[in-house]
Amino acid sequence: MIGPPSHIRLKVLKAVKRDRHRYDPLRVLGMSVSLGLLVAVPLSGLAQVDLWRGRHYLLYDMVPFKHGLAGVIIGIGLMYVVTFLSNVVAGRLFCGWGCPVGQVSRFGEVVDTPGLKPAKRRQAQIKGAAFSLLFVLSVMAWWVDLRVLWQGSALALAWSWGVLWIGVAGAYLHGRWWRWGFCKSACPIGLYYSFVSPASWYGVYFRNQQDTCIECDACDHVCPVDLKPRDLMAPVPARAGVSIADAPGRNHCLECGDCIRACEQMIKLRGQEPVPLLLGYHRGPQRIDKAANAPADQQGP
Ligand code: SF4
Ligand code: SF4
Repeated sequence: MIGPPSHIRLKVLKAVKRDRHRYDPLRVLGMSVSLGLLVAVPLSGLAQVDLWRGRHYLLYDMVPFKHGLAGVIIGIGLMYVVTFLSNVVAGRLFCGWGCPVGQVSRFGEVVDTPGLKPAKRRQAQIKGAAFSLLFVLSVMAWWVDLRVLWQGSALALAWSWGVLWIGVAGAYLHGRWWRWGFCKSACPIGLYYSFVSPASWYGVYFRNQQDTCIECDACDHVCPVDLKPRDLMAPVPARAGVSIADAPGRNHCLECGDCIRACEQMIKLRGQEPVPLLLGYHRGPQRIDKAANAPADQQGP
């Protein structure tokens, strides 16, 4: 069930997301690349196990089961390595912009946004279900030729449609109920992030040298994983799952940009530029206040 903090996030997000933002197409692009890669590997024959007809593939050739399985395991391992390397270079950027599980959570949030018109809520439900379907199909494609869904025997049809609908229901319900709690405490990719020190030159950073921060706390309210975006170097207590106590908040930051969007909106309303909260490459410390009297060469871009 959605608790009070999530409700606050949804209310603030609703206000913040009224206008289109440069992040909207970027997120669509990130998600398309991610899902596209996920589905391209098995459908192209680069690596696939076919539990239906036994036509396993590795490097575009039909191979025995154990070779197909090795290809699938290596493929999954390589994806893990890519997310690890992206973490070293740019923090948890993949979590915020390319992870389909995170996107399922976003669709779930739209459905639960307070005060939404019924037609918009239905639209959000359909979008969430359609995305869940695409996601589950792309995962299934690693393990079975998807033609089983219309060409299989009665038993194969029962199995494949059963797995498909259980998967879609699971993904959709995840987006409605578990949501970011999974990213915080159970994601097998995210779990090790508190152990790794992500790049210090990329991420969310706070520059308040001209006192433009109006202390509205909108950035805190929208953070899906309960961080303090203005001070991501501050240690946060250990979270559930495998994480170390007192790792800096930036180790847990999904780099989703929601806090940036909220901040930009608040600053725009006040007409009080520059925006103090930013996401991207930066020089100098992650947080600079006017009081800190930081030298000019440490100012962000
Ligand atoms: S600190 Fe900002 S970018 Fe990081 S997870 Fe929270 S809202 Fe997203
Ligand atoms: S949203 Fe921006 S202006 Fe508001 S508290 Fe956060 S950093 Fe300051």
